[in-house]
Amino acid sequence: MIKKNLEQVEKTIEEACASSGRKREDVTLVAVSKTNPVDRIQEAYDLGIRDFGENRVKEMLGKEPQLPGDIRWHLIGHLQTNKVKTVLDKTVLIHAIDSMKLSDTIDFEAKRKGIVVKGLLEVNVAREESKFGFFPEELLPLLDRLRQYRNLKICGLMTVAPMVENAEENRPVFRQLRELSIDIKSKNVDNVSMNLLSMGMTGDYRVAIEEGATLIRVGTGIFGKREIGD
Ligand SMILES: *Cc1c(COP(=O)(O)O)cnc(C)c1O
Repeated sequence: MIKKNLEQVEKTIEEACASSGRKREDVTLVAVSKTNPVDRIQEAYDLGIRDFGENRVKEMLGKEPQLPGDIRWHLIGHLQTNKVKTVLDKTVLIHAIDSMKLSDTIDFEAKRKGIVVKGLLEVNVAREESKFGFFPEELLPLLDRLRQYRNLKICGLMTVAPMVENAEENRPVFRQLRELSIDIKSKNVDNVSMNLLSMGMTGDYRVAIEEGATLIRVGTGIFGKREIGD
C-alpha cells in the first residue's frame, strides 16, 4: 500500500510542479511517520524516501536509533522548551518555532552544544484559536531579535492550514504565507533567510505546491489512516 500511495503522491507533486512552472527538485516531500511503527518507515525508506516528519520528540528519539542513519528527521510538531536539548542534534529542521521563548532556548542550547541548527517560524495564518504559531503581523517586529542569534538560523516559514472540505479554501492561506516570506526577505536581515516554505498536508499539498511550498508534510496520503490520535 505504501508503494502505491507514494506513486500517487509523486504523480500529484509532478503535476502540481508542472502546472505552476516549478521544478520537481524544489519541492521536498516529508513523509509524516508519526504513530507509524518502524517497519513501515523502513518500507518507505526502501522505496527511496529519506525525509521523515515526526511531531513528538519522544517518539522521534525512540525511532531514530532503529532506522538508517541517513534519514533526515524533521520535527514538525510543537516543541516544548524543556525538550530542546534532547532533540537538537537529531533533527535537520525544526518546523514549528512558535514563540520567542522557544527560539531563545534553541539558540542557547545549540550554542552549548557548539552546533548550528535550522528552524522555521510557525505562522497561524488563519488565526485559529486551537493552533500554535505567531500571527502574521507579529513577525516583522521580531526580526531584530532573530538577527542576533548565532546558533539558530531561521530559514523560512511554516503553517498548518485549517481542516477544510475543499483544498482550494486554503489557497489564500498558502498565498499569504508566501507573501509574508517575501516581505521578510525584502528586509534583508542577517541570519534570516526565507528559502523554505513548509506548507501543505495530505488534503491540500497540491494547492500548497502551486502557491510555492518547498516542503510538504504528507502523512495519511503515504501511510494510510492513523489508528491513534495525533
Ligand atoms: C500529522 C501532521 C501532518 C500530516 O498530516 P496528514 O493529513 O496525515 O498528511 C502534517 N503536519 C503536521 C504539523 C502534522 O502534525
